[in-house]
Amino acid sequence: MSKRIFHKRQLFCRLGEEVLSLVFPGRCPVCDEVLSVGQQICSSCRPFMLRAREPVCMRCGKPLESEREEYCMDCAAGTHLFRQGRAVFLYGGQIRGSLYRFKYHGRREYARYYAGVAADVWGQWMKSRGIEAIVPIPMYGPKQRVRGYNQAKVFAQALGLTIEIPVIDLVRRVRDTVPQKELDYKERKHNLKNAFQLQTDIVKYRRVLLADDIYTTGSTMDAVAEVLLRAGVVDVYFICISIGEGA
Ligand SMILES: [Zn+2]
Ligand SMILES: [Zn+2]
Repeated sequence: MSKRIFHKRQLFCRLGEEVLSLVFPGRCPVCDEVLSVGQQICSSCRPFMLRAREPVCMRCGKPLESEREEYCMDCAAGTHLFRQGRAVFLYGGQIRGSLYRFKYHGRREYARYYAGVAADVWGQWMKSRGIEAIVPIPMYGPKQRVRGYNQAKVFAQALGLTIEIPVIDLVRRVRDTVPQKELDYKERKHNLKNAFQLQTDIVKYRRVLLADDIYTTGSTMDAVAEVLLRAGVVDVYFICISIGEGA
């Protein structure tokens, strides 16, 4: 896609979004109350969305207790296939309910707020990495048909509009997988084995940013990164809406 067409399409999307937000005002991602035009979160709810700020693990972006540490325990112990990742909010408290509604109750509009904060906190980081495309972590087709949308893609699209980077479905999920948190380390690896495949024959991007809603162990990011690295991508980064603290 040429740059010109991309920008035109973006402009169109923006206008469309603005018109839509006048007709259908958004809802607060914390209390779910209807917001007034132009608002993305109630001012009283804002303090409840805790941002994942520095100091964070140099690799996965998990918050660290002290500036002296460089990596979290998990990243210090093993190697990930992605180069680096960052998260927007700390998982827990209000973000839990917010993400639940975003994922299971059709509250796609929350993505605008998540993406806005992502650009605010990590915009410079994303820019400095020379990212050429945002790739959503894919959902298994039949599962997505039931839910109606892939929340990772909804977030990726909102972020793409905000930071003006195209969103490309480079990878598809060809197997359904059990939620990673229910498995131990060995089972996790096996669970994701051959779960992802390249969507296109040729990948022209060298630096891509994966987008997902929650980062837990990083094994999903690694599994998708593996497919992309094999296809010639040089650096795989990620951004997720939320991340847990500790280990
Ligand atoms: Zn609120
Ligand atoms: Zn880490």
